[in-house]
Amino acid sequence: MKNGFTTKILHSDLEAPIEHFSVLKPMHTAVAFGYPDARDLVKVFKGEMPGYAYGRQGNPTTAALESKISKMEDGIATACFSTGMAAIASAFIALLRGGDHVVSSSFLFGNTNSLFGTLGQFDCDISYVDATRVENVEQALRPNTRMVFVETIANPRTQIADLARIGELCARRGLIYFVDNTMTSPYLFRPKQVQASLVINSLTKYIGGHGNALGGAVTDTGLFDWKSFPNIYDNYKTANPANWGILQIRKKGLRDVGATLAAEAAHRLAMGAETLALRMERASANCLQLARFLARHPKVTKVYYPGLEDHPQHKLAGELFRTYGALMSIELADNIDCLDFLNRLQLVISSSHLGDNRTLAIPVAQTIYWEMGPERRAEMGIADSLIRLSIGIEDIDDLIADFSQALAG
Ligand SMILES: *Cc1c(COP(=O)(O)O)cnc(C)c1O
Repeated sequence: MKNGFTTKILHSDLEAPIEHFSVLKPMHTAVAFGYPDARDLVKVFKGEMPGYAYGRQGNPTTAALESKISKMEDGIATACFSTGMAAIASAFIALLRGGDHVVSSSFLFGNTNSLFGTLGQFDCDISYVDATRVENVEQALRPNTRMVFVETIANPRTQIADLARIGELCARRGLIYFVDNTMTSPYLFRPKQVQASLVINSLTKYIGGHGNALGGAVTDTGLFDWKSFPNIYDNYKTANPANWGILQIRKKGLRDVGATLAAEAAHRLAMGAETLALRMERASANCLQLARFLARHPKVTKVYYPGLEDHPQHKLAGELFRTYGALMSIELADNIDCLDFLNRLQLVISSSHLGDNRTLAIPVAQTIYWEMGPERRAEMGIADSLIRLSIGIEDIDDLIADFSQALAG
């Protein structure tokens, strides 16, 4: 009776008793946890007893959110962080050592691209490949390759990685397969089904959905054999090897980086998660309808959206994902200034961020990909006129009316 995606999220808190018979997990803001018996405090520190010691390493409100995310991803455990970037950076710092090599998709969220540049300064080598073809990933592998990193639907150009075949390759070679599921969210896609080892979600986007809290999560799917991974420190080699990876990410990630998710944010994100399925259905349906409208419009020269038949991975997206998602990018006819166009939109908001209930638009080359420079932008297929649209849950007629008038202007 608790099998459905939304049912599981809604009833997850009540799986453990909650004080005063609350029907959802309250917000625990305490930083310290006092134990009547000092021996229990020692046991918690040693991991011999469940419990909390100090707020940087987690608290009950965040733990309740972590168990919801594990359920959504069908994983064995999740560690939350203060942002999606904190989750990626903490996991990489916890798992990699100098001299290691990582193969990454070249179609990357801009800030992840920046982080990988920084890791390169610390003697970790990153190779970028077009991950829409597994052959490119395979050719880039080296004896010191420790992991492969991809996004599901890349932002902003919506390329889709060769997810299943990369999963087979990583399983064959014993590599950590790290999938950023932010753009699809666990409602549209479970990376575990393509043999992902670790899944990262920026909770700031669809899972939270309301644009009122930042957060990130790393989930272990339970598929990777941590005994074969050379970078696990002896301290984290507990009785059950399935726990080694997430334990090291949690312990070292939260301790060394300290980017802990605050209880207030965890609470808001957990509220958002309850309606993830409803919002994703509505936003995806809006996005498909709007993409079809824009694709027919004479003043729009390109629409990048996996739901359109001319998208290179349209068929693959249909096989892998529950819907085609709620993010698209467009290019306008040459004579239209994209900033003037954005100013003519009355409902759609010019803003960074995506996965919000409200429809947001951003000129990509001039903002989020500005710092990267023209060469790297060209490599990533980012035209100067590219506009990214994150479609919300407004009434579709209002969205179409707004784009119509802005294009007519
Ligand atoms: C936004 C985003 C992130 C980073 O998440 P923050 O919570 O903003 O730090 C990582 N990956 C993808 C694909 C994103 O869209």
